[in-house]
Amino acid sequence: MVTTPAPVDCLRELTRNMWWCWNPDIWQIFSSIDADLWRETNQNPIAFLDGIDDDVLQERVRRGALTSRIRQALRRQRNYVAASGPQANMLAGPLHQAPVAYFCAEFGLHESLPIYSGGLGVLAGDHLKAASDLAVPLVGIGLFYAEGYFQQGIDENGQQREYYGRTNVDTLAIRKLTDDGGEPMEINVELAGRTITMHVWQAPIGRSSLYLLDCDVESNADEDRRLTTQLYGGDQRTRIRQEVLLGIGGVLLLERLGIRPGVYHLNEGHSAFATLELCARLMEQEDVAFEEARNRISKKTVFTTHTPVPAGHDRFAPEMIDEALDSLRQRLRLDLRQFHGLGRIDLDDPDELFCMTVLAMKMSDYRNGVSHLHGQVSRRMWSDLWPQHREAEVPIRHVTNGVHVSSFLAGQMKSLYDRHLGPDWMAHMEEPEAWAGLADVDPGELWETHQVLKARLLDFVKHRVATQDAPGGDKSGQIVPGSGMKQEILTIGFARRFATYKRADLIMRDLDRFRGLLGDEERPIQLIYSGKAHPADENGQALIKRIVERTTDPEFFGRVVFLSDYDMNIARHMVQGVDVWLNNPRRPQEACGTSGQKVVLNGVLNCSVLDGWYAEGYDGKNGFAIGDGREFTVPEKQDAHDSDALYRVLEEEVLPLYYEIGSDGLRRAWIERMKWGILSLGWRYNAQRMLLDYLHNAYLPAVGATTAS
Ligand SMILES: *Cc1c(COP(=O)(O)O)cnc(C)c1O
Repeated sequence: MVTTPAPVDCLRELTRNMWWCWNPDIWQIFSSIDADLWRETNQNPIAFLDGIDDDVLQERVRRGALTSRIRQALRRQRNYVAASGPQANMLAGPLHQAPVAYFCAEFGLHESLPIYSGGLGVLAGDHLKAASDLAVPLVGIGLFYAEGYFQQGIDENGQQREYYGRTNVDTLAIRKLTDDGGEPMEINVELAGRTITMHVWQAPIGRSSLYLLDCDVESNADEDRRLTTQLYGGDQRTRIRQEVLLGIGGVLLLERLGIRPGVYHLNEGHSAFATLELCARLMEQEDVAFEEARNRISKKTVFTTHTPVPAGHDRFAPEMIDEALDSLRQRLRLDLRQFHGLGRIDLDDPDELFCMTVLAMKMSDYRNGVSHLHGQVSRRMWSDLWPQHREAEVPIRHVTNGVHVSSFLAGQMKSLYDRHLGPDWMAHMEEPEAWAGLADVDPGELWETHQVLKARLLDFVKHRVATQDAPGGDKSGQIVPGSGMKQEILTIGFARRFATYKRADLIMRDLDRFRGLLGDEERPIQLIYSGKAHPADENGQALIKRIVERTTDPEFFGRVVFLSDYDMNIARHMVQGVDVWLNNPRRPQEACGTSGQKVVLNGVLNCSVLDGWYAEGYDGKNGFAIGDGREFTVPEKQDAHDSDALYRVLEEEVLPLYYEIGSDGLRRAWIERMKWGILSLGWRYNAQRMLLDYLHNAYLPAVGATTAS
């Protein structure tokens, strides 16, 4: 006889697979049990269960009549994990024997596992989730950073402060792998003449797994124990060591686990040393020369480059390469010139630094940028690597990024979709037809859903402003940030890393015009900002300061807010609740940008420079364009041109459309645009479409399978 587990045990079991983090109906269960605790534990279900008394929990479950919902959620989870999956199970063919090993320096799955800093990590998390949904065999390889990326506070002067706290692993669905004797499994990597031992954390991500290497092992020297403590912390030497540990350690780990990947996907160049370790092993096992090893390894290697911004490409001095990797060089039987040449465009230029992107380009047969435009830009940027090719024929293609729908689509909006599209639409979400039913949605219904989400965001903002580590008012206590915000006012969101090319303050370039927009009697705007600047990026921090100062300046009516400590939780609230998402990078530096894709799902309109994904997605009716994609060589000129274009599109298009309210109280033209945004973009810019593109254009060809499409 099967006994039915108690609800508490069901909840515990539910938390052991990170599947919960893309199933908002499970969060609703926790939130109905105790909304405050759910928020205080940062939406972490394990911390939540630790923090609530079992009797209280049982009583709340009973009182809320939650038992059947809990049991049903667990049933869904068990079915999901056990089922070998939908159509892709068939499509993935040979990958079942030889899965994809997906390497990345950061993974953003949920705010409770803070081992991401921005778009790259969130994309990697989305990739894992989509692979799980489609049952494409794929394992993630990364590093475990006990202190993660920093937490952000803002002092009275608007200066960013950085704090580091250790993540409590007991509150995460990750566990340390053990060997046959029950001791922690050890991965030993040779680095700079010594051996570094790493332990391995495994996190179940639906049907996929994420493995995270961790240097914090007693037998290591103190300095080495700290190598993986922080993401993107430390100096160049820390960086190269982390990259050796990720790339080479990752290969050793896969071997230790008995996983024989058919494809190695290097997501960004950080992990590119993996390919060299693979070559060395092949040379040792089969006694082949380096060139042959390289040919065979590169056939299985996919490399995705993520940015044209120079600072985004790690470059190391040759001495640093020698210090970290001399024994690997010897195993590869390469002389210094040949070895350094793997990271150089010109092998004979001793001043050229060793570039991880160059190494990755040279060691992979499948290379891609992350949008149509970024593909072009990358071909131009790296054309010197293929001097015999014309620029258009440089072998770098593109797969445009997409976002994981269940992770960013608001629950209320999903219910609306389910009502109109049927329960099965997500299985086919990469097809336009799957979304077509939304054309018939009643404008009032869509608007009402959006209003609910907007109200929720404004509530969230109010709560954050009152509790966050940032200036809570001006010196006289008159102006509290956000005090002038209202449900009826057009709300613009801007949240992302504060890299200077993203120009967070572009809308403030002409302060009089900016003030005019905020304070307009009939058609005002209000702005919500959030984002971290890298601790070493002083210009990015200056941008934050500039914005924070406006939040308490009476001249700006309390209509500018900065939410400190940007994370996936803030991101979700913002992309679900604003009216307009502002994106104004210096084209063509935003390789793709994904936050604008998250807002599309929720009926929010993009107002964006024609860069990244939007350059290919915008059709004149599914959002708003800032300028016409013109590029300047002088940044000042570009900024002047683009800020003018920004004011113009706001004054002439966005505001008139938003504030055009019909006699029935509805903004029909605006709602039409919301609908067309979802219909024309939703099917294309999701992670399922992205994963299928990688499957057909890279993964299957790399394992030698022919593909039907
Ligand atoms: C989506 C996301 C990003 C990426 O945003 P971009 O617009 O691509 O810069 C960064 N951080 C978080 C927390 C996100 O959710």
